[in-house]
Amino acid sequence: MGKSYEMAPRKVPQVKTKYRTIKTEIPVPESMPVLEKLRKYEPISMSGQPLVVWDRAEGVNVYDRYGNKWLDFSSGVLVINAGHAAPEVLAGIKKQIEKPLLHNYCFPSEIRANLVEKIASISPGTLKKVFLLTTGAESLECALKLARTYGKKNNKKVMISFEGSFHGRTLGAQMLGGMPVQKDWILHPDPDIYHLPFPGEPRCKDKSFAFFEQRIDELGINPKNVCGVVSETYQGVSAALMPEDFAKSLRKWCDKNGAALIFDEVQAGLGRTGKMFGFLHYGILPDIFCLGKGITSSLPLSAVVGRKEFMDMYEPGAMTSTHTGNPLSCAAALGSIEAIQKNKLVENAAEMGKVFEEELRKMEKKYDCIQFLCGKGLVWGVQIGKRGTEKPDPDTAHKIVGRCVEKGLLLFAPVGLGGGTVKLNPPLMINEEAVREGCSVLDETIREVAA
Ligand code: PLP
Repeated sequence: MGKSYEMAPRKVPQVKTKYRTIKTEIPVPESMPVLEKLRKYEPISMSGQPLVVWDRAEGVNVYDRYGNKWLDFSSGVLVINAGHAAPEVLAGIKKQIEKPLLHNYCFPSEIRANLVEKIASISPGTLKKVFLLTTGAESLECALKLARTYGKKNNKKVMISFEGSFHGRTLGAQMLGGMPVQKDWILHPDPDIYHLPFPGEPRCKDKSFAFFEQRIDELGINPKNVCGVVSETYQGVSAALMPEDFAKSLRKWCDKNGAALIFDEVQAGLGRTGKMFGFLHYGILPDIFCLGKGITSSLPLSAVVGRKEFMDMYEPGAMTSTHTGNPLSCAAALGSIEAIQKNKLVENAAEMGKVFEEELRKMEKKYDCIQFLCGKGLVWGVQIGKRGTEKPDPDTAHKIVGRCVEKGLLLFAPVGLGGGTVKLNPPLMINEEAVREGCSVLDETIREVAA
């Protein structure tokens, strides 16, 4: 289903604006040896992104070595919250390198202590215990393990997740995920993980909590056997949030049935949606949440944050990881959180989100190939497909992304759920001028591609 981009260089119009420069053919002929080396030695699965050879990135821009400059609406798959190479992140990493302390395993270190304290300080309520890991998928594996371990005490083992969800590509995370096409390889799917319709997805006809309960009943699940419910705060593939009243009812339902409510904030966390954590839009708190991606705006780090009773179940040495709290990643995370707070990037994401919505609604009115829009703050999904049908059009989405890149706007289209979504998620320090410029490139591209 996923597609690679054409390796043949194409003559494209030159672009020179404050945020974008395109002065070569795309892909750049001189970059072909790099692209060919990657095609030769990496698995095909790694060839899904537009053929821009990243050389340097700062703020909202990504540069190649050949004089081209892109306005980045990808944030490198929603990692670069504070901006590429944010000064606070760079300074933190440099200081740590100069010490030097590059690894500490689970031995105590001041930088790890400072980071877990910082994450606890920005986490609401009683969500004050923090376990650092490396990838988003790992944090979901851990959340699954915690919910199951907690449930085991009372013989509860059922996990509820949602259709269309994505939680990573390792075994447990992929079993939690709700995209059947990604799970062919799992020979023995966990029989106690169920997927229910996600009520935020526009194609879900019944968004009521009564429908959730009805499906639980139809699937023969005894609510008292449920140890955990896990959901992305917004679904990454479409950028759709849950209806607020659904989320509130879900919280009550979990309380009533003694199930842990887990939010996967790997995409939503650290300001992306215009609040520090996406679940704050729902006015409820989970028992556990997972962070990743934008936590460092750079280096690999993830975290599981939760209430003491969930986080303290394992004895010393029994829940650890080799690279837990790598000192460089901790320094990057402290720098990134400092930049987000000091530069009021959460507030900026909320403000810039309004500009995005205004621009995208104009496009939605003009172009029949936009089926629907979802999003909040600085994450938006433009679903491409014939209006009035539910069939996504991944080929057109792929074409739109390719053409935008030729015009100096960097973005991507996720492959999940049949594809067809063009995702827009720039760094949170983007300004209004750049948002409008990027949107005008998208508008022009959709007009050309739709015609
Ligand atoms: N959860 C969500 C919501 C994600 O979007 C992703 C990655 O795209 C993951 C988990 C997995 O994160 P990672 O790729 O770091 O394992």
